[in-house]
Amino acid sequence: MKVVESKRLQKLGSAIFSEMAGWKAEVRQNGLDIIDLGIGSPDKPPSETVIRALEQAVRIGANYGYPTSEGSLRFRETVSRWYRHRFAVELDPESEVLALMGSQDGLAHLALSITDPGDTALIPDPGYPIYAASLVIAGVSPHPMPLRAKNGFLPRLEDIPADVARKAKFMMLNYPGNPLSAVADRAFFEEAVAFAREYDILIVHDLAYSEMAFDGCRPESILQIEGAKETAVEFHSLSKAFNMAGCRLAFMVGHPEAVRALRTLKSQIDYGVFLAVQEAGIAALEEDMRAPDVETKSKVYERRRDIVIEGLRDYGWDIPKPKATMFIWAPIPSGWTSRQISREILYRTGVVVIPGDAFGTEGEGYVRIALVQDEERLREAVRRIGEFLQS
Ligand SMILES: *Cc1c(COP(=O)(O)O)cnc(C)c1O
Repeated sequence: MKVVESKRLQKLGSAIFSEMAGWKAEVRQNGLDIIDLGIGSPDKPPSETVIRALEQAVRIGANYGYPTSEGSLRFRETVSRWYRHRFAVELDPESEVLALMGSQDGLAHLALSITDPGDTALIPDPGYPIYAASLVIAGVSPHPMPLRAKNGFLPRLEDIPADVARKAKFMMLNYPGNPLSAVADRAFFEEAVAFAREYDILIVHDLAYSEMAFDGCRPESILQIEGAKETAVEFHSLSKAFNMAGCRLAFMVGHPEAVRALRTLKSQIDYGVFLAVQEAGIAALEEDMRAPDVETKSKVYERRRDIVIEGLRDYGWDIPKPKATMFIWAPIPSGWTSRQISREILYRTGVVVIPGDAFGTEGEGYVRIALVQDEERLREAVRRIGEFLQS
């Protein structure tokens, strides 16, 4: 028999990413040294404390039983303490915190637990790919909110037609954002919460990058807004904040009914995160409360950002400096499309950057550069791209 991919699956994923994988393979075969500034995976290990906690926890036999999908109470209590410490937000660990196997797990499944096929959701364009993909999986219609430089990459809520807003079940937001690196101020969060309350929409805020910000910027939680817990949930991840991407640990907090819905769905799908990994997560959050290392961690990316932006400026490519995240969202020189210039940069210099339209049609005119190599490699990448631009 022949197995064909479901129509749903065929609609998933960006053609650009698979096309790029082909380019990369070809370039590698040609023997060019590749500097990969494509995928956004942190290149540093977690702290010694975290590694030691994991080491100890894997020695304990009891940690090898099935965990529960909602996460150990100790992990959820630690999350709740960390949120109070970091954002002054109170969370009930029983009803307002849910452990996740990475936020990808939660972001992929949330729509399935709070929408039905044919519903509508508001998503940013450009946006992190799982936002759109999760709607495909759940049969939900996306209503894209264009994010443009002239609006500080914030959605213009007044542009959302009232009938769409009334229908929409939830709105995805992501500040500091990937791929845009934009940050939102409290005024925008207040506006979003008011809008969500008026139209009865759940706000789903992805806060993966709160601990990766520069020049004194300290990103806020949307749950800091008065009354937000009645209309919002927030995703947070240990992946970027504590260099634990491979450990697969994250959490969703906020609106108890949304927490319960996702928890119910997940109880059918998975049996939770390995308890030893949860212990490592507890150690990371506790260490952060005891001796925050945000400065030094952020400094790594701040220095890398400066190397790339100042370096490319010397070659005549002017890119605004992001205040957060490990990404540079670079407006491309005129005369190119995002895809053409990414392809040329790769074939001519071996440097991988992602064409902006991989994240949505509004991403055309940009490329995303991930700061995931050490300073020396980044300097080398800048030199190669600079010489390419001048040729
Ligand atoms: C990296 C990233 C995440 C984190 O994903 P995990 O599954 O927790 O590793 C979530 N959202 C955005 C925007 C990201 O860039």
